[in-house]
Amino acid sequence: MSVLTDLIYGGSNAVAGLTEGAVNDAIAKYGADKEIAFGDTAYFFPTIYAATGVKVKTLGDLTACVGVLKSLITNQEDLGQALNAGLATAVGAEILEGLKYLEADPYGKETGIGFVPDPIIRSLGVPLVTGNIPGVAVVLGKADNEKDVISVVKDYQSKGIMTFLVGDVIEQVAQGVKMGLEFRVIPLGHDVTSVIHVVTVAIRAALIFGNVQPGDLAGLLDYTKNRVPAFVNTFGAINEVVVSAGAGAIALGFPVVVDIDLGENQVPGALESVCDHSLTVAKSLELRNIKIKVTELPIPVAFAAAFEGEIIRKADMHNEMWSSANPTAELVLMKDVSEVEDRRITIIGPDFDRGKDLALATFVEVAGKKMQVDFEAVIERKFHAWFNYMEGVMHTGQRNQVRVRVSNAAFEAGLRLRHFAEVLYVMIRNEFEAVVDKCQVTIITDPAEAAKFRDEVAMPRYAQRDDRLASMTDEAVDRYYTCILCQSFAPAHCCVVTPERLGLCGAVSWLDAKATNELDPNGPCQPIEKLGLIDERTGRYEEVNRMIKEATHGAVENVTLYSILEDPMTSCGCFECICGIEAVSSGVIVVNREYKGMTPAGMTFGELASCTGGGVQTPGFMGHGRHFIASKKFLSAEGGIARIVWMPKELKDDVAERLNKTAKELYGIENFADMVADETVTCDAEELIGWLTEKGHPVLGLEPLM
Ligand code: SF4
Ligand code: ZN
Repeated sequence: MSVLTDLIYGGSNAVAGLTEGAVNDAIAKYGADKEIAFGDTAYFFPTIYAATGVKVKTLGDLTACVGVLKSLITNQEDLGQALNAGLATAVGAEILEGLKYLEADPYGKETGIGFVPDPIIRSLGVPLVTGNIPGVAVVLGKADNEKDVISVVKDYQSKGIMTFLVGDVIEQVAQGVKMGLEFRVIPLGHDVTSVIHVVTVAIRAALIFGNVQPGDLAGLLDYTKNRVPAFVNTFGAINEVVVSAGAGAIALGFPVVVDIDLGENQVPGALESVCDHSLTVAKSLELRNIKIKVTELPIPVAFAAAFEGEIIRKADMHNEMWSSANPTAELVLMKDVSEVEDRRITIIGPDFDRGKDLALATFVEVAGKKMQVDFEAVIERKFHAWFNYMEGVMHTGQRNQVRVRVSNAAFEAGLRLRHFAEVLYVMIRNEFEAVVDKCQVTIITDPAEAAKFRDEVAMPRYAQRDDRLASMTDEAVDRYYTCILCQSFAPAHCCVVTPERLGLCGAVSWLDAKATNELDPNGPCQPIEKLGLIDERTGRYEEVNRMIKEATHGAVENVTLYSILEDPMTSCGCFECICGIEAVSSGVIVVNREYKGMTPAGMTFGELASCTGGGVQTPGFMGHGRHFIASKKFLSAEGGIARIVWMPKELKDDVAERLNKTAKELYGIENFADMVADETVTCDAEELIGWLTEKGHPVLGLEPLM
């Protein structure tokens, strides 16, 4: 046997032995009926479930899994067999980590975070498909030289790569890199087995987005290999358990780069040695074919998507521009080419060194032959992300309700207003080059000037846009758009985006889709001519069906725009909300991704969400965007928003104003949101119907759904 296969089998056998012992001990201690779960997942022990279809619910279920695990370890020279042994290690690691969850919050006292809940995976869908997160790195072990691993992880961070840390590298990296989910540097745990927590993310992606069926091991491996852009870097000496875990990674299609010389034991494309750490990142990206678009910006702080979630606390804050204290506004206006001087930057008022609390009006004028007034808001909405990408800058809100903080560190580094303008200029010219030929930026911090700008220029424009949006109904336009961005993860999914029904991720409105099509005519959003009406009630069109069939390569042939029962729109998995039938009341419940509790359907968000996805149509369940809830088209084939009987309170409060307006217009009902129950009322279906009766909820007057 080669040194390599020797090590793999050594590691797999060791893990198998450990796993068997640990399962037996746990059964002896707690009994075989003791329930076991990672928590906040609908996929049980995801590796075992995906690979074999077995739903682990009790300790007793694990005994059979140990048998399967051992059968994967054949001790044969063949590399394919050895990779199977690597998968056995993954199963063993999952069981060993799962057993830790017999204790509440096993990672509470450790630095790592352990198991990643389903809703977080769903929330990663959009950044992954748009390339905002271009890849996933697993950095494992203990570096001989701390500085090296710090610079590797920093490099990944600057490229937006999501990095998971396992082992002593956690403390090493903590010395020089900001860590946490919001910085895309995530400590998993210290035991090698904790690497399973990133493996199950990839595996659940296959189940959630890819419609891979539990038990279809070949389909699973094909999905992770081709669609999950992950790879592994090990630092320092490697033992047989690390090697066999690495074999598991390779079986899933994730290349492994080690920093020791493996000589002829290397497997090109799958297992390679890079002993010079300055080459680790480039080699890893090359092995996974990850291409990074670099934007050179003339600013003194880092600029990367990884800083988008950075929070700046009061103690670290040098300046604050906040609408509650001073006038603020953000506006993009389309101008005639003759009125715009390209790259002109104007600052009116004091800079960050001449005042702590400032006003902030950010005014961008653009011109271009293919520019349209409708794209103003699309560009303007990007300010939020771009400002946040600056390390040491936090931005929330939009329009005249804005809050921007600049950290002490960013100020010390030399960050000034001019750099905000530079960022906008460069990013607009980069991302909107197809429509913007010229761009000039004006930043106003003088409070009187900023107030004048806000009241006389910005507010009237916002009002105009709102009028335009209100008049933009599905009837008023001559085309809808497809969006197939999510096909890189959900190959059979396609959203149909209409003015009244935005994409289910919540990030693509009809105007966004229109702009995307203009910017990239062969890109993910294609126009659907509104032709061949078949049925107005459900929103069924020949042309929509034709385009869907084409976009999904035949996977979906019929789809309606407004029904949850008849050929509902498919879901990819990254939906903001899930809507499902509540059988007792014949209504529907709507649950948002952030809600962690139980619902009257007896299922959590994660469990409801697992009923649909992967581009499959599941009548009775539908993923959708938050904004769609108050639309007149929401479930209009089944009676509209009058079907909504329950929502988590946070979601209800968020949409209440618009929901009430729609209910008033559709049914003449006042304060409809007060008739919709939430978790503070009840999570029990029987109690719910009693409460609805008491409130006189309109669902009681509708036809039964089934
Ligand atoms: Fe994905 Fe649909 Fe959003 Fe497009 S609109 S990014 S396909 S969820
Ligand atoms: Zn999606």
